[in-house]
Amino acid sequence: MTSAPSSEGASTPEESYAETTPLKDVSDDKPVKAAPKRARKGKAEGQWALGYREPLNKNEQSKKDDNPLNVRARIENIYAHRGFDSIDPADLRGRFRWMGLYTQRAEGFPGTDTGHVEEEELDASYFMMRVRVDGGALTTEQLRVIGEISQTFARDTADVTDRENIQLHWIRVEDVPEIWRRLEGVGLTTTEACGDCPRVILGSPVAGISADEVLDGTPAIDEIATKYIGDRSLSNLPRKFKTAISGQQDVAHEVNDVSFVGVHHPEHGPGFDLHVGGGLSTNPKLAVRLGAWVPLEEVPDVWHAVVSVFRDYGYRRLRTRARIKFLIADWGPEKFRQVMEDEYLHRTMLDGPAPDAIAGTIDHVGIHDQVDGRKYVGVAPPAGRTSGSTLVGVAKAAEDVGSTRIRLTPYQKIVVLDVAEEKVDTLTTALDHLGLPARPSVFRRSTMACTGLEFCKLAFVDTKNRAGDLVTELEQLCADVAGDLETPISIHLNGCPNSCARVQVADIGLKGQIVNDAEGNPAAGFQVHLGGELGLDSGFGRKLRGHKVLSSELGPYVERLVRAFVAGRDDDERFAQ
Ligand code: SF4
Repeated sequence: MTSAPSSEGASTPEESYAETTPLKDVSDDKPVKAAPKRARKGKAEGQWALGYREPLNKNEQSKKDDNPLNVRARIENIYAHRGFDSIDPADLRGRFRWMGLYTQRAEGFPGTDTGHVEEEELDASYFMMRVRVDGGALTTEQLRVIGEISQTFARDTADVTDRENIQLHWIRVEDVPEIWRRLEGVGLTTTEACGDCPRVILGSPVAGISADEVLDGTPAIDEIATKYIGDRSLSNLPRKFKTAISGQQDVAHEVNDVSFVGVHHPEHGPGFDLHVGGGLSTNPKLAVRLGAWVPLEEVPDVWHAVVSVFRDYGYRRLRTRARIKFLIADWGPEKFRQVMEDEYLHRTMLDGPAPDAIAGTIDHVGIHDQVDGRKYVGVAPPAGRTSGSTLVGVAKAAEDVGSTRIRLTPYQKIVVLDVAEEKVDTLTTALDHLGLPARPSVFRRSTMACTGLEFCKLAFVDTKNRAGDLVTELEQLCADVAGDLETPISIHLNGCPNSCARVQVADIGLKGQIVNDAEGNPAAGFQVHLGGELGLDSGFGRKLRGHKVLSSELGPYVERLVRAFVAGRDDDERFAQ
């Protein structure tokens, strides 16, 4: 039951601003479904620090009723023994997420189904399990264990996500304790891989071996993961909280809730520039700089201060306004930094410079030099799709050439580190046999997709399989112009308006929805966003009215865009320019 909001305290000026500023859904050009202005007048946003502790929606109530991390014991002691039907609905559709588990979409509910479907009907009795890989860093032993778990318990499914996780499907609750035992035996976890908590920490796939990084952020990632993941004081945040820490600009830092980006301070040397408040979905925002320079050893404390401000001041009234980006939008970076310093750090951070923005994307695909004279090899699974068998094969291929270190990237790629130059051909041949080319086509390299209709209950359309087929189509349709694309054109497919595949910052962003076909019948399709970009000139793609395309006609549509770009561009012009 949802409790009435506390009557404590009238609206502050910032709350009034939040209450009266209409939210604009830039991806749809229509207002986001938010509470009407009048209904919210005088009511709080549910900010704990302002004294509003009573839950204002069922998600907040559920988190208050029981710390979501407690669900682990129930899974191990009750649900795994009694089966799917014994699971309390509040755990099933809520707290399970804190352990990296979502119910997957039941088969037989196509996205073109226009009738109303209750969420329970969409639940399969299987789960998606997300294995968090902080920093994207895996040993070959860890990769093999994930692959073997997939073969045994997940029908050989395994997707590399654009947040450096690996997702398995078809998981039965009965098998979860044994899967955890195997994962934890090699130092992996699913804890807080989903839910309103600190999610996986993105890190540079080539941290510590790249000549291009300002510094290696790995010690900070490790310390945060060790100290704070599973910490009950941070397990009830207003919503999800995404972190990126990298000594170079290879982790899409602009669209994270907090990011630490490598930069040289003219007096103090290498450290990080602090960004806060990025996020996509239906109200996309790029992160803003706080103007603070953070040395490596202070990153965990500063990270903790940012997440604490979010926990205490973040909006908890409406899920649609509960990300930190809305607090930043209302406060501005100066106030946010002041509150951080005054109430949490109890000191002033050093001012620092902005890093020079880079043009384009660093995806680490191909064969590259390491600072120690060895090579690293990045390969491109089609839109992140692999299998348990493939992961086991990658682990073996790496070990056969003397490597024990694997990295995942925020572009759904896999990287093998520490390869002696004379072993590179052996490795790339083995990876080719696994269907993982180190020299993929420009289209395979730059196409990403979210989970989509196959497994996601929110999806309208298929994405993973469609993306794989699209790559094949474009390799044929655009074979004559592919060589002219020095910089690949990024093509991202989402199954719904949530932006799990970052459609707004792709050259060609495809947001899944139901459209009308030539006969006026509902059919799977995409709203098109053009010209999004991160890095230099970062911005969101333009949604052009009428730019909707049937999924079945996607190949020729993208071909026309590619040919028009190649024909009309100036020298070195990128698609987004
Ligand atoms: Fe599911 Fe939508 Fe996210 Fe795709 S973008 S994985 S369909 S929630």
